[in-house]
Amino acid sequence: MKDLQLAAAQIGKARHLVAFTGAGISAESGIPTFRGKGGIWDQYDPIILDIDYFKQHADKAWPLIKDMFYNVIDKAQPNPAHRVLAHWEQSGLLRTIITQNIDNLHQKAGNKHVIEFHGNTRDLVCLNCHKTTPVSQADMSQNPVTCPHCGGLLKPDFVFFGEPIPAAAYQKSLKQSLDADVYLIIGTTGIIMPASLLPYEAQKNGATIIEINVSPSNYTDSISDIFLQGKASDILKQLDHLILS
Ligand code: NAD
Repeated sequence: MKDLQLAAAQIGKARHLVAFTGAGISAESGIPTFRGKGGIWDQYDPIILDIDYFKQHADKAWPLIKDMFYNVIDKAQPNPAHRVLAHWEQSGLLRTIITQNIDNLHQKAGNKHVIEFHGNTRDLVCLNCHKTTPVSQADMSQNPVTCPHCGGLLKPDFVFFGEPIPAAAYQKSLKQSLDADVYLIIGTTGIIMPASLLPYEAQKNGATIIEINVSPSNYTDSISDIFLQGKASDILKQLDHLILS
C-alpha cells in the first residue's frame, strides 16, 4: 500500500508522464503473451516470425500467424488497464504511450498519442511493391495472403525478427523516453532489444521508474524505483483511485 501511495503521488505530480507497455497489459484482454505459462511460445515456434523464414515459407507461416494474432486480436477488447491510461491521457496526465504491442488496444481504448514501436496488425505491406493494404481490404482467406495491387507477398506490418525498427517510431520513442520525468513500465519482460533499452535511457536522464508486472522483470532489480507486483488492471485501477482521491 505504501508503494502504491508513493507511486500515485509521483504520477499525480508528473510533468511528463510516459507509459511503456508490453504484452502483459493485454493479457487480461485474452491475448496471450509471448513468454510465461500459456504464452505463445509454448504453442508456436518463434521461427514463424523470422523475416527470412517468412519470405521462404510464407505458405507455412501465414496460417499460424492468423491463428496466433489475427483470430485473437480481432475479437479482443481493451481491459480496465487500457481504459485507465486513456482516461489519464484525456485528463492531461499522460503524454504518450510507447507500446511494443501490435494489438491496437490502446487506440481502441481512446489513446491518441501512441507510438507503435513494433508496428501493428491493422495493415499488411507488400514485399514486392511496398504498398500498404489494410487488413479489412485484403483477402485474408488466401494462403499466402497476396497484394491486391501487384500479386506480391503480403506481410503483416509489424516488426519480424531480423527486421529494423521503423525509424520514425524509434526516434519519437527515444525523445519521449528522454523527456519523461516519470516513466511507467507495464507488463514487459525487458528482453526484446532494442525496445528494452528505452527505460534505461529514461532512468539515465533522471526519470522516476515505476514498474507494474505480475512477476519481476529485467528492470525490477536494476532500474525500477517502485515495483508494483500484480495484474496491470488491478494496479492501475488502484492508482487511478488514489490519484483522484
Ligand atoms: P512477453 O510476452 O515477453 O512478456 C509478458 C510480460 O507481461 C511478462 O513480464 C509477464 O510477467 C507480464 N504479465 C503477464 N500478465 C500480466 C498482467 N496481467 N499484468 C501485468 N503484467 C503481466 O512480452 P514483452 O516483454 O512485451 O515482449 C515483447 C514482444 O511481444 C513485443 O515485440 C510484442 O510485439 C510482442 N507481443 C505482443 C502482443 C500484443 O500485441 N498483445 C502479444 C504477444 C507478444
